[in-house]
Amino acid sequence: MNHGFRRELEAGLQAVRQAALLCRQVQSGITTESLAKRDNSPVTVADYGSQAVICRLLAAEFPQDPVIGEEGAAELRTSEGAAFLQQVLNLCAQHGAPGTPDDVCGWVDHGGASQYSARFWTLDPIDGTKGFLRKEQYAISLALIVNGQIELGILGCPNMEFPGGGPGVLAWAVRGYGAWQQPLFDGSLPAVAVRTSVTSEPAELVLCESVESGHSAHDWSGLTAGELAVRKTPLRMDSQCKYLAVARGEADVYLRLPTKKGYQEKIWDHAGGVLLVLEAGGQVTDISGRLLDFRQGSTLALNEGVVATNGRVHPVVLRAIERNRPPG
Ligand code: AMP
Ligand code: MG
Repeated sequence: MNHGFRRELEAGLQAVRQAALLCRQVQSGITTESLAKRDNSPVTVADYGSQAVICRLLAAEFPQDPVIGEEGAAELRTSEGAAFLQQVLNLCAQHGAPGTPDDVCGWVDHGGASQYSARFWTLDPIDGTKGFLRKEQYAISLALIVNGQIELGILGCPNMEFPGGGPGVLAWAVRGYGAWQQPLFDGSLPAVAVRTSVTSEPAELVLCESVESGHSAHDWSGLTAGELAVRKTPLRMDSQCKYLAVARGEADVYLRLPTKKGYQEKIWDHAGGVLLVLEAGGQVTDISGRLLDFRQGSTLALNEGVVATNGRVHPVVLRAIERNRPPG
């Protein structure tokens, strides 16, 4: 592929793979007892560890690029955080990123940008923390944004099935160069192209949405599905794995309908997945049909909710959402 982001793609894929191995190890160790101990919750250790290994690589390869990431190291730097930091440090060392406490905090804080700039990365080190804890779906999401355009989007989905293979999908898209997937834990197998579904009959649609009704309004999506006469029950899953589901045609529509006025979607919850769906042939807008605006810093401040579809059904889905908008 002869695009201008070869180095970025190579570094990004390597970083996400490394972080995915780290997350998988932590997730496999989750027990009821470890969940009860709230002070060293496994998800937080894996969150910091994932951000640290990814930002370490980005800082080394592209030192000038800011990274708008979900985490910051402020808590790790406190005296109460010392034991916790040690756990993160051990985890990083096991996953190819040995360093001092200062190094680890520095890597995490490399992802601490929040302002828009002409070229930056955005990172969700573990998207779908609830799914991570339930041992269900979660994703590591990394994207490169240049002049407000997502040029590169990468999703590591450790618990999604690779068709005909085992668990673990690494999916990516480069703007203008399509969407691809490969087994996450075996980079030697060839990447295959990803395409959205061709469903155009509303009644046949498979909708997907968050497991959490606090993150996307289930009652509103239920009314929308009713209006479209959708027959199948919605696919509920955590994280940006929903974007992968739409990109490869397992679902036709991903609805993220606001649960309350004024919530601003975080860019790291979307950027990686959005380009995947666009490059697979789909469409992504907010619920009013506006394109997502990644020039507003760490949030999609000018947008309301998100709708991703196979493209064909986008207008009819937007109309049904609007007609069922809750009052107020
Ligand atoms: P999901 O796995 O699709 O449920 O989305 C997880 C993401 O939802 C987290 O990374 C949060 O940033 C985000 N989130 C938290 N509160 C809300 C909310 N009220 N509306 C939409 N998204 C939210
Ligand atoms: Mg997230």
